[in-house]
Amino acid sequence: MIAIGVPAEDKDEPRIGMTPETAKKLIKAGAEVTVRSGAGLRSHFSDQDYIDAGAKIAKSDADAVAGADVVFTVRRPPLALAKTMKKGAALIGMLDPFSDAEGLDALAETGVSLFAMELMPRITRAQSMDVLSSQSNLAGYKAVVDAAAAFERALPMMMTAAGTVPAVRVFIMGVGVAGLQAIATARRLGAIVTATDVRPAVKEQVASLGAKFIAVEDEEFKQAETAGGYAKEMSEEYKKKQAALVADHVKGQDIVITTALIPGRPAPKLISKAMIESMKPGSLIVDLAAERGGNTELTKPGAIAEHKGVRIFGKLNLAGDLPVNASSLYARNLQAFIEPFIDKEKKTLAIDWNDELAKGTAIARDGGIVNDMIAQRLGGKANAKSAGATGNSRAKAPAKKTAAKRAPKGGKTS
Ligand code: NAD
Repeated sequence: MIAIGVPAEDKDEPRIGMTPETAKKLIKAGAEVTVRSGAGLRSHFSDQDYIDAGAKIAKSDADAVAGADVVFTVRRPPLALAKTMKKGAALIGMLDPFSDAEGLDALAETGVSLFAMELMPRITRAQSMDVLSSQSNLAGYKAVVDAAAAFERALPMMMTAAGTVPAVRVFIMGVGVAGLQAIATARRLGAIVTATDVRPAVKEQVASLGAKFIAVEDEEFKQAETAGGYAKEMSEEYKKKQAALVADHVKGQDIVITTALIPGRPAPKLISKAMIESMKPGSLIVDLAAERGGNTELTKPGAIAEHKGVRIFGKLNLAGDLPVNASSLYARNLQAFIEPFIDKEKKTLAIDWNDELAKGTAIARDGGIVNDMIAQRLGGKANAKSAGATGNSRAKAPAKKTAAKRAPKGGKTS
């Protein structure tokens, strides 16, 4: 029988990777599920809810993962906990593969197979497993709702006997999954919405949501999208033109939501201090790229910065502020990923290491890093045992502990 264990997350992480709903489905698919007592409480899932779904409750994290073939987490778990896991067990979560290289290497050396859900290939078959999409969507919504709550004016136009209240102007920078949801939410609240991006494909999507698209639409813009659908780093010349356009536009905006990211790079700085100074006092910016360094020059990750009457919200983990939805979607992403790897007859874990999705997300196996890109960032080479893991790993040595080529604080891969 395949055993799935779920430890509690640390105090800063309210989400959980298993809900009673997904526990029930996985048990039906042949798994035995054990959840650490109280682990779902911050998403309002009680121990009894899990028991009713057929799961067992463990008294400690170590008990939850002991004997597990698969462990579901939201964040990277403590090394000490990974050391108590069975060798060869699969640890599946948002393992933040581009930061804390030594920590990742140490985790790999435990012999646990590591799967970073952020690296899920963006192909049709994997849409239901795409944690970046499920969480960014909620973050985009929450950014606008937070901005509306903190802003000292009403968002929609209101015609009253005492006069007209003007609609607020909201500018969305970066129209990926989070940006699209931010546009839709701001529109529903009655704001006048404009949006910008460097990828031309976005133009129509923005218009279809009733917002106005503004961008520097030169030759470089036409080529700015990678084959994977992500943005490229733009040239210095483009950045200058873009800065001039943004400077002119931003001074007339009340709320700006920034979401711009470039895979594997720090977030582009799109709003300078001077631009912030050009905004009216009382205006505010919500910077969803804060975790990757921020899209403004004055963002303080994890805090609210204030400069000349303009507030910049740099809150991290906005999806975690909607833990009930965020956990439900995230848990379904994990369930969708693992279910095809359960042998329904033998009821055992049967990871197909040649499967595109396993290859794309596997970063460690048998004590070594098996993803070339991650191995290079760790200063080593991918382990030969992993040849299946990236399709092109050929070197023998596992990544070295001392290796310290740190990744830029940029998140994703294309
Ligand atoms: P992201 O989080 O990587 O970046 C957010 C946005 O910032 C992107 O739209 C990007 O173009 C934009 N950006 C980057 N640099 C910029 C700059 N200098 N100025 C302005 N904007 C800038 O993006 P995402 O939300 O992950 O979405 C990326 C793409 O992947 C989209 O086309 C999305 O539709 C697609 N996608 C595909 C799938 C799938 O097929 N399974 C799933 C989710 C998303």
